[in-house]
Amino acid sequence: MALSKVAIVGRPNVGKSTLFNRLVGRRLALVDDEPGVTRDRREGEARLGDLRFVAVDTPGLEEAPEKALEGRMRRQTEKAIAESAVCLFVIDARAGLTPLDETFADLIRRQGKPAIVLANKAEGTAGEAGAVEAWSLGMGEPIAFSAEHGRGMDELYAALEPLLAAAEGDDETLADEEEGWDDPLKPLRIAVVGRPNAGKSTLVNRVLGEERVLAGPEAGITRDAVSVEWTWRGPDRDWPVKLYDTAGLRRKAKVVSKLEKLSVADALRAIRFAEVVALLLDAGQPFEKQDLQIADLVLREGRALVIAVNKWDLVEDKDARARDIRAEAERLLPQAPGVPIVFLSALTGRNIDRLMPAVVKVYVDWNARVKTPDLNEWLRAATERHPPPAVSGRRIRIKYIAQVKTRPPTFVAHCTRADELPASYRRYLVNGIREAFDIPAVPIRLMLKKPE
Ligand code: GDP
Ligand code: GDP
Repeated sequence: MALSKVAIVGRPNVGKSTLFNRLVGRRLALVDDEPGVTRDRREGEARLGDLRFVAVDTPGLEEAPEKALEGRMRRQTEKAIAESAVCLFVIDARAGLTPLDETFADLIRRQGKPAIVLANKAEGTAGEAGAVEAWSLGMGEPIAFSAEHGRGMDELYAALEPLLAAAEGDDETLADEEEGWDDPLKPLRIAVVGRPNAGKSTLVNRVLGEERVLAGPEAGITRDAVSVEWTWRGPDRDWPVKLYDTAGLRRKAKVVSKLEKLSVADALRAIRFAEVVALLLDAGQPFEKQDLQIADLVLREGRALVIAVNKWDLVEDKDARARDIRAEAERLLPQAPGVPIVFLSALTGRNIDRLMPAVVKVYVDWNARVKTPDLNEWLRAATERHPPPAVSGRRIRIKYIAQVKTRPPTFVAHCTRADELPASYRRYLVNGIREAFDIPAVPIRLMLKKPE
């Protein structure tokens, strides 16, 4: 199988070439030497631990920064992003975020590519502030990094490994008729995340315990450092499952003092590994700030979310409490309307059997595909019912919409004055897609594209 491509993206002078050289070392074999092709892009086979991929350095040096995103250079960068499985988005942690960084971030977002933010030049303590600032890009947790000194390579590995694994299991384009995702041999990757003491370890052990009985001893459970595999016998078919081992995380967390900070980083790692994330809440204190942060992170990373409310055995008036929690979820997580909520007790085992059906349901929705004619029929009706607003006297027109990706469902709408479409209208469209095509709960991405 061809190696996945990883594009190194960022404004000039942030350290892209330095990173490229570090990843590729002396193995720079694949430099594009075709006659007539200027060397706008360097490619080389990269190694990081046991990962192999093709690193693609995008242009950054030849042109003045203010022209950086014009013409050929912009096209080259867009092409590199489009062809890559993952983007490494490099910023200069010492300089802080600049408007040009935002422009590059936008290029990546618009293509819906998974990205890892590297806050480079963060050797010593110099770059910590810049790394924290980079959270505001909304592209997940930035890694404090130093391409020159090799800082952050382990974190990069941990972030990249699941993304490459996901990409290699992914059907990249919808043109591809083979659905792949429901391959009965491909494990569904799940992570259980939640605040310390929510009951994650108890739940994982309980699920494994039950499944071991259900699956019979011959199914076997393999346990390595990162994940546990087993087969869930669903009503319609068997589902091989790979569960991220959060118990392993806890062992690691114990030896580190900055527990609070680490738990977010660990949750992020688990989220990036997973296709479906089960967020475990404590029925006594659901929806604390950290719970909501994790839920938000799950959705921003484009993963499917299931909420499991644990310690249900301790709740007295179960009906009233369940109603309250459902209402809270709708209010606090408007990004995921109708998110499945399972009330269970990891300790007693009550309702544990409801978790996997909920997981599989959101997983299927996360893989939803909508046919282009159906989408455009819906778009016509939706824009007639509630037309897009006019900007300086001219109406914004949305001409065409198509789904370009699944996992999560990602749509591109061709829209005049795309930059001026209000966020409220974008929400109207996303909610309309949810309702019309019955895709509740999972994140839906909508990108707007100006007509050529
Ligand atoms: P590019 O334009 O993004 O490809 O950036 P380069 O890789 O050419 O690096 C730009 C400058 O930043 C060079 O002077 C590098 O030596 C320097 N640089 C790159 N990485 C680091 C780093 O981790 N720390 C520091 N302090 N400087 C770096
Ligand atoms: P983790 O930190 O999220 O892995 O949480 P643990 O699995 O270590 O559980 C934390 C505490 O909550 C332990 O004392 C568990 O026994 C307890 N616990 C876990 N699940 C339940 C449950 O469903 N009901 C009750 N009453 N206690 C639970």
